[in-house]
Amino acid sequence: MTLLAIEQLNVWFDLDGGRQLHAVRGVDLSLDAGERVGLVGESGCGKSTTVLAVMGLLPPNASVSGRILLDGKDLLEQGERSMVPHRWRDVAMVFQGAMNALNPVRTVGDQIREPIELHGIATGERAQARVGELLELVGIPATAGARYPHEFSGGMRQRASIAMALACKPKVLLADEPTTALDVMVQAQILQLLMSLSDELGLTLLLVTHDLPVVAQTCGRAAVMYAGQIVESGPIDELFHDPRHPYTRLLFAATPDLVGTDEVVSIPGAPPPLDRPIQGCPFQPRCPAAFDRCLQEDPALRPVSAFHRAACHLNEVAAGMGRGVR
Ligand code: SF4
Repeated sequence: MTLLAIEQLNVWFDLDGGRQLHAVRGVDLSLDAGERVGLVGESGCGKSTTVLAVMGLLPPNASVSGRILLDGKDLLEQGERSMVPHRWRDVAMVFQGAMNALNPVRTVGDQIREPIELHGIATGERAQARVGELLELVGIPATAGARYPHEFSGGMRQRASIAMALACKPKVLLADEPTTALDVMVQAQILQLLMSLSDELGLTLLLVTHDLPVVAQTCGRAAVMYAGQIVESGPIDELFHDPRHPYTRLLFAATPDLVGTDEVVSIPGAPPPLDRPIQGCPFQPRCPAAFDRCLQEDPALRPVSAFHRAACHLNEVAAGMGRGVR
């Protein structure tokens, strides 16, 4: 059953000189209860902006349209105001870089207690006990709550920020590059923690990352973003073994494998500037398979199998010829 549905989400940022940057362009994404979904793409493709829009945490120069439905209720119905009661309580977020989420001059325990008291979940000793439970849930001794963030290692800080996000027992956890800046061993531990928490607590997880192997290890489904749009989405197996968008294929080719047998290629060029209209397919200037139609027409995200969708004209050409794109 769908728990979170993002429908036709658009985000614009007002820039100097009356210009606007169209950072998220008609994103549709839904998550079933208890599902783990990856949102993948290069820096600046709109992944983080999408999750910040879901949290209602965009800066004042942003404007948003579309619908964000949680259990069928539109969180954007009355603008950011309608998001406030749900933020942290129903939908919580783990931010990129734990130091961004933690206040350096307050103890970790105080910071985890704040949302518990703010949302009326518990006060006083009961709130303190909940802080201890949350720290232990993420593998930190309860007594460490009296320490300051600088007294924690990078991995412990990220665990503490996960504890803070879980403080109000949210249904949905948005994790924005939760393993960035951590060493490989700690990355693996944090991912394992997120997976076991989502299993144990029945959490629905949207994992934002540029790291395809991370998505493969943790998620059942993924969506690939490019230039503010979702260009491909589907079950992990299909996406990894039968990618149908040239950008997804190039992302795989740009990912080193563990044994180093495949040559790693870089994707030539850069994404289009999003402060001006885009003519045709946004990936066209970088696409090795582009043809005439790509210059004129932006491809829609269309089914290529029961649960797999891609936004590339080649799939229609191939479907017309009775075969898939390779
Ligand atoms: Fe490449 Fe054309 Fe497909 Fe865009 S629509 S990804 S330019 S082949």
